[in-house]
Amino acid sequence: MHSPHSPHSAQSSHTPSDSIFDHCPVGCLSPLEDTSIALAEGVLKKCPDCGQLLSSCSKAWFDESMQEFDVPEGTLPSGRNKQRYHQRMGKILNQAKLLISSPSTDQPPRLLDVGCSSGALLRVAKACAYDASGAEPATKAADTARALGFEVFPGFLQDASLPDNHFDVITLFEVIEHLLEPQELLLEILRILKPGGVLLIGTGNADSWTVDFMGADWEYFDIRSHGGHISFFNPKSMARLTEQCGFKVESINTKRVNIRERKNASKAMYEVVKVTREILAMPARWSDKGHDMLATLKKPEQ
Ligand SMILES: [Zn+2]
Repeated sequence: MHSPHSPHSAQSSHTPSDSIFDHCPVGCLSPLEDTSIALAEGVLKKCPDCGQLLSSCSKAWFDESMQEFDVPEGTLPSGRNKQRYHQRMGKILNQAKLLISSPSTDQPPRLLDVGCSSGALLRVAKACAYDASGAEPATKAADTARALGFEVFPGFLQDASLPDNHFDVITLFEVIEHLLEPQELLLEILRILKPGGVLLIGTGNADSWTVDFMGADWEYFDIRSHGGHISFFNPKSMARLTEQCGFKVESINTKRVNIRERKNASKAMYEVVKVTREILAMPARWSDKGHDMLATLKKPEQ
């Protein structure tokens, strides 16, 4: 995916002082500590207050890994995954509809997908009878979504100047782990969300059994294959950040466990991995140790 000229290969000139984070983006005050999780770009840092894990990559490395992901197909799921994605997200979006405090009776609920890429979630939202639109800074992916007939702002949400108290539901899937300063975006979302409206945030959970088992091998930590994953939340840091920004936490749920990536396992080993994942799935949900996190938040009504 990345070119041989990318800064990923310039690791030897990389020093800790280049690190993209010098403090916890959740707003905690304690200095960051090193973890034992060593990635190609340096060891992951940890905030001792909220447990947030943070990349120590350089700004140049981060910028380049983001740019590699501006392709027309965006993050559209394909094949069998497409159907599964549609079912899973459809369920989540239908549940969100029930949480809206004062739904309009004469028009469909307005949904904004922030970081909509090529429009996979917008399609699901349309099928769930939302009036769906998006914002996406990767312009080639945004063009694909627009070609499907969706209104998509081709840039960062903060530059779209959308009206106050406008949306019933805002979705932020696989975005927040890319952000250096997440407060800025969350405050903008709070402004444009209607009082009693719903914000859904989907991201990985770094305080998961998957991280306990796999450490640096968890593919979610791989900045190259994800276009700039740098900030890894857990239920505590997610609650702390969103409450500080003025949201009310409805629920934070996690699911799914992995113990080894498919590419690192023999065929026989992978069968064992699959069975183990099944066995661990339920207790992981109960104990908030799954690696897939969904935060459901609301804008207070007053
Ligand atoms: Zn923190």
